[in-house]
Amino acid sequence: MRVYLIFMQELIIGLGSNLGDRRENIEKAIALIGERVCRVAVVSSMVETEPWGFKSGNNFLNCAILIRDEPVSDPELLQGAAGMWRPHQIIKILQAIELEFGRIRTGVYTDRTIDLDILFYGNEIINDTELSVPHPKLHERDFILVSLMELCPDKVHPVIGETIREINNHRKGNVTPR
Ligand code: AMP
Repeated sequence: MRVYLIFMQELIIGLGSNLGDRRENIEKAIALIGERVCRVAVVSSMVETEPWGFKSGNNFLNCAILIRDEPVSDPELLQGAAGMWRPHQIIKILQAIELEFGRIRTGVYTDRTIDLDILFYGNEIINDTELSVPHPKLHERDFILVSLMELCPDKVHPVIGETIREINNHRKGNVTPR
């Protein structure tokens, strides 16, 4: 039997919600990403966090998901599989999902039904008007580091040159999974 490897870098997406049924929003978004980008391999625990960068009485639930290369036996499955997607296409799919959740893009930090961020795309470094990968704030946000500690503690941040574990050790890390 032939085995085809979908060529794709390991993709890590951060999810957050602080409006409506937050857990349901996140679970539905994960299901849609699974349908439209690629099957999701690992989902981190959810963490409850206070809004970052703005004031609101609505706390966030956050988590992160990991999507990676998978061997498939049927070349048909390669069609539309994640290996076909480049990061700029992935962010378009994620933004379309955000809009479907009624997300209003104001340009400033506000309450939101769903927030989807590309945290890592393998070791690629992208910095243009549409996309910054690795996500430029990930090493400053404890709730992202908590999720990444579950998914990929030994991953080396391609810009900082330290593992997630090392970056996390430099911080207080006062967020607990729930
Ligand atoms: P936000 O309102 O936090 O969802 O920010 C969305 C804006 O950030 C969009 O214009 C994106 O194109 C841009 N952006 C840049 N880098 C990223 C990233 N790694 N993940 C998600 N959005 C990004």
